[in-house]
Amino acid sequence: MTREYSTEEIADKDRRFVWHPFTQMQEYMAADPVIVERGEGIQLIDVNGRAYYDGVSSLWLNVHGHCVPEINAAITTQLDRIAHSTLLGCANVPSACLAEKLVSLTPASLTRVFYSDSGSEAVEIGLKIAYQYWRQQGDDHRRYFVNMTDAYHGDTVGSVSVGGIDLFHRVYSDLLFPTLSVPYPHPYRFDGTPAECARHCLDELDRVLAERHSEIIGLIVEPIVQGAAGMIVMPDGYLKGIENRCREFEILLLTDEVATGWGRTGPLFACEHEAVKPDILMTAKGLTGGYLPLAATLTADHVFDAFLGDYSEQKTFFHGHSYTGNQLCCAAALASIDLFEKRNLIDSVRLKSETLAARLQEFANCAQVGDVRGKGFMWGVELVRDKATKLPYGWEERMGIRVCNRCRELGMILRSLGNVVVFMPPLASSEKEIEEMIGILHRAIVEVTE
Ligand code: PLP
Repeated sequence: MTREYSTEEIADKDRRFVWHPFTQMQEYMAADPVIVERGEGIQLIDVNGRAYYDGVSSLWLNVHGHCVPEINAAITTQLDRIAHSTLLGCANVPSACLAEKLVSLTPASLTRVFYSDSGSEAVEIGLKIAYQYWRQQGDDHRRYFVNMTDAYHGDTVGSVSVGGIDLFHRVYSDLLFPTLSVPYPHPYRFDGTPAECARHCLDELDRVLAERHSEIIGLIVEPIVQGAAGMIVMPDGYLKGIENRCREFEILLLTDEVATGWGRTGPLFACEHEAVKPDILMTAKGLTGGYLPLAATLTADHVFDAFLGDYSEQKTFFHGHSYTGNQLCCAAALASIDLFEKRNLIDSVRLKSETLAARLQEFANCAQVGDVRGKGFMWGVELVRDKATKLPYGWEERMGIRVCNRCRELGMILRSLGNVVVFMPPLASSEKEIEEMIGILHRAIVEVTE
């Protein structure tokens, strides 16, 4: 296939006109970008024909690989019918079918689907629904969400407010609403056993709930794995402990499955690990197999019912976006879910993730690897300056970035979170591909840190 512009011309357009997300543009503009032209299976092919493993699933979302014929066909079939019509007071075929499917696949407490376009919006919507829910019960007193230290729920002002990563918070602090923050259990950085770590964190939550429960709207948590904080895995029983307390103190439980959903941690949704039934659940990323931007906020009956009433009562949820419930996105999601079922993907993830976990755990022998942690296909390798004291590398040493840069030279795209190198390959990766990707990662870590 011939291209209209040369590689240099595209690089020039990119440097001059595109502002890249989460990217220091001064550095970016000084380097040669990887310009992706197409995808084949779990590889990205650049404009020069060089192939790279997509080791972070194009930012934690790709499931079945790229250019999957079944998903391509579903999108083009839908395109021949219609690309988009509004969902404001009007229905469409794929969004109705997908909503039924989502309700059948998510925890049994959830019965309604509100669509949006990104994980951040799905969270924003969950927060607004939870807030309005209490007001429509005549309870105007509740104004706080309980959130977790180091949480990440997206980049809109509301979702940043319930986040806990100082780097993303600091500059916007005047814009954010206050929350009641409780510690998220981080066993590697806790002086004690994982069970003691969970106990300590639940005690803190108990204290906040006992003192403030009548002012609390709900609690928001990334279930099982806290992603952007550095792939931190909760100790067993902690999520259930949270759910029990939400029930005891009658506050809403919001689970953010934007990153953990769609088989990332093993089961289809991370809540399933501990049979947790939230009042509100947010999903995005892998929902369309990583093809198109679609997100959903699911709610329980009692939440939805609080919004029903005569028009004049003004209980409507006055929220929506231009592309809410877009047909192409919903068609892609239905095709992706179909593939989950046809390919028994959840069973195969269970098997492959055992090999993946065992191979990654071997990294613990590397001199500068402090911790290897994860679940399913969601892993982080924490690099430390001193293993005995767990002393982190300084920000200016850019150790995570350097390892990712070396991986790129060796043929795999990764992104780090500070000193934690994230490894989240597409669920469709074969054992052989996993082996090759892990080989690249190991070589990069050894070469850069030793
Ligand atoms: N919530 C969690 C747990 C996430 O990990 C992310 C993104 O990484 C988001 C929300 C935001 O999703 P999006 O980038 O689609 O807005």
